[in-house]
Amino acid sequence: MTTSELWQAVLGELELTLSKANFTTWFKNTFIVTFEGSEVTIGVPNLFTKAWLEKKYHKDIHSSLQTHTNSAVRHVHYRVETRQGTAGTVPEQTVVPVNIPTTAPEPVFAAAHNSNTGTYTSYTAPSASLPTSAPAQPFGEFSLNAKYTFNNFIVGKQNELAHAAAQAVTSQPGGVYNPLFIYGGVGLGKTHLLQAVGNETVRNNPGAKVLYVTSERFTNDFITAVRSGQGKEFKNRYRTVDVLLIDDIQFITGKEGTQEEFFHTFNQLHQTNKQIVISSDRPPQAILGLENRLISRLQCGMLADVGNPDFETRVAILDTKCREKCYPLAHDILHHVATLVSSNVRELEGALNKIIAFHQFKNVAPTIETVKPILSSFQPASSRKTITARQLIQTIATYFDLHIEDITGQSREKRYAFPRQIVMYLMREEMKSSYPSIGMELGGRDHTTAMHAYEKISGLVSDDEKLQHDLELIRQRLYAL
Ligand code: ADP
Ligand code: MG
Repeated sequence: MTTSELWQAVLGELELTLSKANFTTWFKNTFIVTFEGSEVTIGVPNLFTKAWLEKKYHKDIHSSLQTHTNSAVRHVHYRVETRQGTAGTVPEQTVVPVNIPTTAPEPVFAAAHNSNTGTYTSYTAPSASLPTSAPAQPFGEFSLNAKYTFNNFIVGKQNELAHAAAQAVTSQPGGVYNPLFIYGGVGLGKTHLLQAVGNETVRNNPGAKVLYVTSERFTNDFITAVRSGQGKEFKNRYRTVDVLLIDDIQFITGKEGTQEEFFHTFNQLHQTNKQIVISSDRPPQAILGLENRLISRLQCGMLADVGNPDFETRVAILDTKCREKCYPLAHDILHHVATLVSSNVRELEGALNKIIAFHQFKNVAPTIETVKPILSSFQPASSRKTITARQLIQTIATYFDLHIEDITGQSREKRYAFPRQIVMYLMREEMKSSYPSIGMELGGRDHTTAMHAYEKISGLVSDDEKLQHDLELIRQRLYAL
């Protein structure tokens, strides 16, 4: 067996135990550099990967090497090295240990890994330096929300890759992984991470231009710009940023050349080493209607998935959120919630809000006994039945003592307009409807109306307890249908 065959065997084994994103990210472009005596040196493409393999996969790599060499491998080292030439032309070693002195240069990069914070610092790789002299100025109306930081992001197995990558691109924008593409189901922290990258970048570098937008906002801005002859302003706005954060790219449409514009924006930023971070509910190749050239651009950076948090992580998240809200809950209660609510972090937060609201309202201290009935109505999203737009509109109309026609009609009176916005918000949240289809269900309104409604209610919901309460009751009725 040659070293290359050995490594293939090891990779084959590792591949079975890792998610595809993890496997590709960490093991792409790795190979055995030398196998001398009982020591194997693995070549890796960069220091970030090196630190990660040492920290996370060393045991697996070592034991797999053992398996395939009859326990001949005692030590495994990792070294930043790129394979010279193409695969077949590299002279290969046989696994029978031979003493070939290594002539490979020492790594050019130097980085320190802080195992407490999980951060990597002091990379010396060439990177875009952010302007430091420019005065701090808020950029873009729909930009950053200070509440999402790395500090209040709980790291567990399911998101450690995305988290580490997000931190790496923050410490070295445009230099390590570009683009960074984070994907996974709803409520699993994608927006949180994108925002954290933005907030941290601005904190490190107050002059940095960071722009956070959803792909729908991008589409909309672009179409508006084209129609009003402000294409130049649009380009200026998007192509001059240091960090571009695009949330939910799966909603980007082919409308009036939006994808084309995105493609050019992407290229422009990428070529000038500006950092791009993108989120999606699925990997690039699974996004319907996305042009192939865009897919391959997105795939060329780092792909990191986020998954459902495991039990320990759920408890840790609940604990943190309780503290944030200054409403500590006993451990047995946290465990109970974490056991019942297992789908995603957003639902976890929802359950917590519900518990807090109930006990504050009744002015009693929470116990397992008082918490149980509150959660009894709680069903994980996966086991929920699907609801139709009609059912949703009917439920909300009834809740506000209105007729369906009041909601779908044209009156702008507040007592109609507000429930209507709640309908649009919940169609988005609960049914994952697109903005155009929400507009259509509501009497043929424009998709921008739906988008504004969604943004408005989303903005209100975190601080408005009455609204939280209304939404909770509406959801209960909806799923009790
Ligand atoms: P997504 O964009 O993936 O749908 P969000 O980023 O909006 O999800 O997360 C939903 C909620 O859960 C947010 O309030 C967010 O702060 C919180 N959240 C998600 N993951 C975590 C985490 N790992 N630690 C702390 N809060 C989290
Ligand atoms: Mg999101």
